[in-house]
Amino acid sequence: MVSRVIPVDPFDLVIFGGTGDLARRKILPALFRRFLAGQIPEGSKIIGAARSELDDDAYRQLVAEALAEFHDGEMDQKCLTDFLRGLSYEQVDAVGEAGWDALAGHMRPDMVRAFYFSVGPSLFGALAERLQLHGMVDPDTRIVVEKPFGRDLETARALNQSLAVHFDESQIYRIDHYLGKETVQNLMAIRFGNMLFEPLWNSQYIDHIQITVAETVGVQGRGDYYDRSGATRDMVQNHLMQLLCLIAMEPPAKFDPDAVRDEKLKVIRALDPVEPQDIVRGQYLLAGDRAGYLEDVENSASTTESFVAMKLHVSNWRWAATPFYLRTGKRLKARASEIAVVFKETPHSIFDEDAGRHRNTLSIRLQPNEGIDLDVTIKEPGPGGMRLIDVPLDMTFSEALGPDSEAAADAYERLIMDVIRGNQTLFMRGDEVEAAWAWTDPIIQGWTERGDQPLAYDTGSSGPDDALALMHRDGRRWREIRE
Ligand code: NAP
Repeated sequence: MVSRVIPVDPFDLVIFGGTGDLARRKILPALFRRFLAGQIPEGSKIIGAARSELDDDAYRQLVAEALAEFHDGEMDQKCLTDFLRGLSYEQVDAVGEAGWDALAGHMRPDMVRAFYFSVGPSLFGALAERLQLHGMVDPDTRIVVEKPFGRDLETARALNQSLAVHFDESQIYRIDHYLGKETVQNLMAIRFGNMLFEPLWNSQYIDHIQITVAETVGVQGRGDYYDRSGATRDMVQNHLMQLLCLIAMEPPAKFDPDAVRDEKLKVIRALDPVEPQDIVRGQYLLAGDRAGYLEDVENSASTTESFVAMKLHVSNWRWAATPFYLRTGKRLKARASEIAVVFKETPHSIFDEDAGRHRNTLSIRLQPNEGIDLDVTIKEPGPGGMRLIDVPLDMTFSEALGPDSEAAADAYERLIMDVIRGNQTLFMRGDEVEAAWAWTDPIIQGWTERGDQPLAYDTGSSGPDDALALMHRDGRRWREIRE
């Protein structure tokens, strides 16, 4: 099955930080792939902006090199030349005055206009102010901002306020690239597009939910940034929280940005505070010639966590008796992200004890191999009597939908096209971000005040043993972390 490419309107897109790592690694390759797919209409302009002194040709050269490194498909020279022709560059300092009038000169009336803030958050306010000052903001102008959106409630609120002076909430697109993943959107399609699951989607039938985002890499070159952040700020407050919201939210009245985000917000507000005994934090140890966390961040006294596991309760009618277990960490045994919805056992087994007890699990894999599995219990084939086994009903998208499917598109491709379409459904609203910080802040404050020390864990493990115990003491087990 080949999916349809739905063209967007021609646009002017400015990438502030157009020379930076995120632009080269993600944004520009995503735009190039959309161009190859035929989704970017003729007449669209992509303008890189940063302080470096470059002309259009030098910028095109920089982008060509970035694509050579980060574009993972075939490189057709003619397509590359055509794509590069639509690029230009303006030298602009977010906190200076030079270059802004020239940038404004690129803007065309009646064209979709978007500004991607691919720079540190300390520059968001200055960019918003200068865009307004130089007449580049009309009611339909959009801005895209990247994480980290604050480091606590106070800083997130200040960021929201600095943007709100110049932009309406309907113009602000806060990216969480997890929401751009095909599987994550499919989670909503599966929940709300099928009769099968929704009646079972509650405490009566679901025993617990696990969300795991495991990485094999350490903090590497980002030690300084990471040590001021840690796994809870870097991953839980945003990515894992967003996944939890989509799993736990009530059905919105329609698939409309505010209807969906209202329901997500209710989930965050229904989260109970987490008790200290329900959180485990860890730091990876050195392994052979691979440095440990403390060496990587060059701070032997650091108490920042590179791993966190926690048990949460969503305090509402639907989820009253179903715990959510979240874990994320670096230098774990595999790079794997998944959500597992573990159903209860049948209330009574009609089979012999030999048949064993089984339960259904719906697992949603975000990486690698995006897809969805439903473990169902069947009879083990053969004349060995009534023995039961669990087999997965596999829905790996690349197999089900074919190699040419648009399902293979990267999250950034989908999200940038949504910005151009003006659809905010998969972007975080300001009040959602603030509510997530309001829930996260006391957790972090708690361990700072108590002086809690993270536990050591081995590189290549599943995290500290206490994280396993977090589930064992409830008579449950984490799923294996595997690719
Ligand atoms: P980076 O490699 O340091 O790039 C920063 C960019 O901002 C450069 O293009 C830089 O160019 C430009 N810049 C810096 N100061 C400026 C100023 N005063 N005026 C105009 N442009 C300025 O950082 P990055 O990794 O691309 O990250 C950008 C943002 O995205 C950060 O907030 C980061 O946390 C977030 N993010 C990054 C990633 C990633 O994979 N890299 C992932 C998620 C989120 P000049 O020096 O030429 O001005």
